[in-house]
Amino acid sequence: MYKCPYCEKETITLWAKISTGPMSAATCTDCGKRSTTSVRAQMLALFPVVIGVFLPNYVPALMPFKFPIVVVVIVVSLLVYGMTAPLMKKS
Ligand SMILES: [Zn+2]
Repeated sequence: MYKCPYCEKETITLWAKISTGPMSAATCTDCGKRSTTSVRAQMLALFPVVIGVFLPNYVPALMPFKFPIVVVVIVVSLLVYGMTAPLMKKS
């Protein structure tokens, strides 16, 4: 669980945090206020996914492993994003 930036209580689940994005926010189960992560953190999470999707196209040796590479990169990137991106008050 992660701290709500408003009430400082640990009410935000990892999944709720991962689900935040430009169009969605995590809602605190205690105070009901909405928080989100920075656009910078969202872009940083997306960057390795883009690399994982396109790199195998340019490295023929990686092509047979393209699908597992993409799956691993997406899972790892979302977990790192969910665990490290700071929650901010949504304006
Ligand atoms: Zn709260």
